[in-house]
Amino acid sequence: MKIHEYQAKDLFSSYGIPVEQYILCSTADQVAAAYDKLAMQKIVVKAQVLTGGRGKAGGVKLAKSREEATAYAKTILGMKIKEYTVNKVIASQAVNIGSEYYVSFVIDRNTKSVILMMSAEGGMDIEEVAAHTPEKIYKFAIDPLIGIPDYLARKFAFTLFKEIEQVNQMVAILQKLYKLFVNKDASLAEINPLVLTKEEKLIAIDAKMTFDANALYRPPAIHALFEPTEDEQREAYAKEKGFSFVRLDGEIGCMVNGAGLAMGTMDMIKLYGGMPANFLDIGGSSNPNKVIDAMNLLLNDPKVKVVLINIFGGITRCDDVATGLLKAFEQLKTDIPVIVRLTGTNEKEGRQMLQGTRFKVAETMSEATHMAVEASK
Ligand code: GDP
Ligand code: MN
Repeated sequence: MKIHEYQAKDLFSSYGIPVEQYILCSTADQVAAAYDKLAMQKIVVKAQVLTGGRGKAGGVKLAKSREEATAYAKTILGMKIKEYTVNKVIASQAVNIGSEYYVSFVIDRNTKSVILMMSAEGGMDIEEVAAHTPEKIYKFAIDPLIGIPDYLARKFAFTLFKEIEQVNQMVAILQKLYKLFVNKDASLAEINPLVLTKEEKLIAIDAKMTFDANALYRPPAIHALFEPTEDEQREAYAKEKGFSFVRLDGEIGCMVNGAGLAMGTMDMIKLYGGMPANFLDIGGSSNPNKVIDAMNLLLNDPKVKVVLINIFGGITRCDDVATGLLKAFEQLKTDIPVIVRLTGTNEKEGRQMLQGTRFKVAETMSEATHMAVEASK
């Protein structure tokens, strides 16, 4: 789960990590008022969206007057950064950047611990630095039983700084950021850039945090910050309906009973040159409501061009499933091709019931998959 920069900065401040004062705004007028309130010559107008690379996309602008701030707010509010629309910006006190550093704590599966990453190449994409000059990123695994006592914090801080004044500021930031990371069950706490200002002060001018979604019941204050993306909304809907659902990138919507069969269906789609739009296990029973819920989930995804229903009738009989499908589709309004493959108990009866209806009926799994892949092209 991701949170916005301003929310991460609130957490930073509550742990004593230095950040500039900011005001959250959703209109250009509010930004103009914020400019007056911050009483600075220069402010920064920053898009608040749940993605990085805002600077490159034009979502971070340094304004030197009230007029400039208002003009930037007008262009940034409503702009799209990747798939996110900007609804909020912060008007932040500007800093005089001396140099930019990178600092993060992240869970590392290789060392099975939290690692600290630091670099003097802050500000830009850390992935770029990692790809071209990995030696410029310093990594330290943190022993969970030891944490970061003063002597370690100083050792880490000295890799980036020489002046004792700066080292001391860095020590405090590292210890506080680590404490925040652990206390809130974070999976990432990143400052990029951490700025050494011309006045020799270390300040986090960007803040990024992500949290382990499986631990959200523990720090309730964090859960309250959850703003689900469209994909996450779909996943929440599926969870509520009792489905196992994972969104993928293809065009073939899959509705299958049983996780193993669902995996097999996806594999076969790929084998025949198609791309599944999702993994969806609807479980047993032929209840039409379940089919309606599952279809609504699939049709809600604009990428889905065709639906493949692959059902193994064990205890649930195929003729019952066919009845359920016919009933469900009386209520669903869609022209999308729907391919059905039924196998198991009473399969012949089930298939017969679907002949001559809106469904395209297939007998074998490979036949069904073939039809779905063709229809998706
Ligand atoms: P990101 O692109 O989404 O990571 O957004 P950042 O918050 O990291 O901002 C991008 C860049 O804008 C930073 O690396 C800085 O170079 C610049 N920037 C942000 N705030 C200020 C500021 O207060 N003063 C100045 N001069 N530049 C800033
Ligand atoms: Mn940044």
